Amino acid sequence: MSDAVIGVDVGGTGVRAVAVGADGSHAGKAQRVALKTRARAEVLGRVVDVVAQAAKEAPDGVRAVGVGLPAFLALPQGEVRLAPNLPELNGWAAAEELSRALGHPVIVENDANAAAYGEAWQGAGKGLDPMVFLGLGTGVGGGIVLGGEVLHGRAGMAGELGHLTVYPDGARCGCGAQGCLEAYASGTGVVRAFLEDTAGLPEAAFKDLYGDRTRLTARQVAELAAAGDAAAFRVFARAGTALGIAVGQLAHVFNPAGVVLGGRLAAGAWDLLWPTLWEEVSTRTPKALREGLSILPAKLGADAGAVGAAGLAWRHVGAA
Ligand SMILES: [Zn+2]
Repeated sequence: MSDAVIGVDVGGTGVRAVAVGADGSHAGKAQRVALKTRARAEVLGRVVDVVAQAAKEAPDGVRAVGVGLPAFLALPQGEVRLAPNLPELNGWAAAEELSRALGHPVIVENDANAAAYGEAWQGAGKGLDPMVFLGLGTGVGGGIVLGGEVLHGRAGMAGELGHLTVYPDGARCGCGAQGCLEAYASGTGVVRAFLEDTAGLPEAAFKDLYGDRTRLTARQVAELAAAGDAAAFRVFARAGTALGIAVGQLAHVFNPAGVVLGGRLAAGAWDLLWPTLWEEVSTRTPKALREGLSILPAKLGADAGAVGAAGLAWRHVGAA
């Protein structure tokens, strides 16, 4: 790799970074360091550490650094408005302070938008424009790439697709609203829905069948569904329906060439989500809108955000 940019993805528990060439080439998996606390100085320190590690793959120098943050950002100035999982970052002049600490130009982007750009630039969405990205993890993140650019809206907050309403009278979402996509198609939503579906079981019977109620994970629910458990199967069927409703609406708004579904839930439960998802999309969109629409699993896995942040940094320095 000749000169490179470093793409960084800051999560709630760790920071990862990868050196990326202007053509998108990168050497292996991203480096990752854990966050010991959620303090601002800790986040800054670990970003500096992991960028230094990744820069070893860029012997000809680092042109810029792109950083995905789990936050609502004020753009273009690059300040953190609200970081629900890292509240000490609220109000942080992130781009300016990171640039000073790293000694490189820095652009910041919302983490889901960065992942969307990564998939559009180098992943499953390559060549598909417009492309809509849904990241199904603990929550549901989203991003839209339109004309090769991340759709930012007025102040950088467009693409919060996890809070599209899919069931108006549905389950309460972490955002305070009811029936959001995230309340059904996230890891948290799957666990909640499964506990609700099985609420009629006495505690001892639940424990015999499924183990400790408080330790249940979405992955376990997916394994149960794949093994034929009726309650778990219903939960994923409903999550697929919720996704299909959302994708149908997004198809009407953007007439996308691609919808890419990433995150651990999509990777681990694609076959469980797909039948009801596609049924719902088919019901809610005319054939002319469905033709030429590819709905695909993401390709870059956990590195999508770092690769996307790198792609955006390349655009910033005018080379990709
Ligand atoms: Zn919500």
